[in-house]
Amino acid sequence: MNRRDMIKLAALGTSAGVLGAMNKQGEAMAATYEKATTGLAPLKITDVKTFLTIPDTQNLVVVKIETSEPGLYGLGCASYRRRPHLVAEAVERYLKPFLIGKDPDQIEDLWQTSFNMSYWRNGSIFNNALSGMDQALWDIKGKRANMPVYQLLGGKVRFAVDCYSHARGNDLETVEGQVKDLMKKGFRHIRIQIGGYAGEGLPGTPDFKKHGFGSEEDIYIDPRIYLEKLPILFGHIRKTCGKQVQLLHDIHERINPLDAINLIKNLEEFDPFFIEDPFPPETPQHYFNMLREQTSAPIAMGELFNNPTEWITLISSMLIDFIRVHVSHVGGLSVARKIAVLGEMFNVRTAWHGHGVSPVGHAANASLDLVVPNFGIQEVVVFNDATKEVFPGCPEIKDGYMFVNEAPGYGVDFDEELSKKFPIVDEPLNWPPIRKYDGTAVRP
Ligand code: MG
Repeated sequence: MNRRDMIKLAALGTSAGVLGAMNKQGEAMAATYEKATTGLAPLKITDVKTFLTIPDTQNLVVVKIETSEPGLYGLGCASYRRRPHLVAEAVERYLKPFLIGKDPDQIEDLWQTSFNMSYWRNGSIFNNALSGMDQALWDIKGKRANMPVYQLLGGKVRFAVDCYSHARGNDLETVEGQVKDLMKKGFRHIRIQIGGYAGEGLPGTPDFKKHGFGSEEDIYIDPRIYLEKLPILFGHIRKTCGKQVQLLHDIHERINPLDAINLIKNLEEFDPFFIEDPFPPETPQHYFNMLREQTSAPIAMGELFNNPTEWITLISSMLIDFIRVHVSHVGGLSVARKIAVLGEMFNVRTAWHGHGVSPVGHAANASLDLVVPNFGIQEVVVFNDATKEVFPGCPEIKDGYMFVNEAPGYGVDFDEELSKKFPIVDEPLNWPPIRKYDGTAVRP
């Protein structure tokens, strides 16, 4: 509310005394507003738009919030690769009418009131929609302040964002070759996988296919082969690539909890940087306690989390070492900032999920990665040329570090027209069924 609005409001008073008092109050509020915004004009949200595009291999959802100041808008990442249409609908149908006319400076209030407006909370669809909104509001605030968002969050405590990359193959030599290539490119942290998750794609025809159970395209995993081969892979990479490279691995919740605990005990001697998703998030806490009692190998969890109940106890009980949330699935930069602060109290480091995140989302991730003292590592995405063209100002990867440009906000723009050349694809919108030898479905 500006000074003129305050005076108008005050003029509604019925007596000279009331008018005088309100005039004074209005003047004081207007003065406070002007001081708080360093004289910038009041701002309103005028439009909210969503864009679906796939310039590389992942469906992306971009939220754009426009304001009453010509040319001032914010961009947010609401990318939910497998449910993009639903997120766009949530933004268009529910967030947009709520946001138009509101003050984009009030990020926390808009987050809280939007979060509550559907009564049931913490679903992945609406959390993504909220994240797009939240990130876009921070982008606006950065541009309005003429500063990169990381400056508003406390300023840099490191010069760039250290990232990990992925090496994966069906045999030891293939993984070794990839690790060596990535080390040459400057990566200090490399995730190693033998076959797909839990040995997906390793040789063998499963019994369920011989007996016509499920569908021909269903994925087969053999946890016994995986459990045997993974420690061999770790030993091989340590022997051939040295002790300095930091090795990560993702179990991807595909094996039963006791197998996961025994596997991690077997990997401990190879000094892993972290082992990710030993269990599905819905696993009883008892297994996390058991895991901690049995091994000191660092544990990462959180890629699938939507709800604070999923991370509060694991962090505050120090049952994990890295929090891996997908920033848009938990509701945005504002939520991730609070998770990072909680983690700092308990020596849990950040390791934001990177797969399927747009350049805007990565710049938002980096805004936190650069400022939180308990930063652990960032999962890298190396953007292709089409993505860089659709998102001018895209973060750059060099020597295993992510660098954001120093422009105000996230420093990343979005070419709406060009994005239309890359319409999203409806395949694969579902994760295909994954089965054990007898056809039993397992977590993805
Ligand atoms: Mg993962």
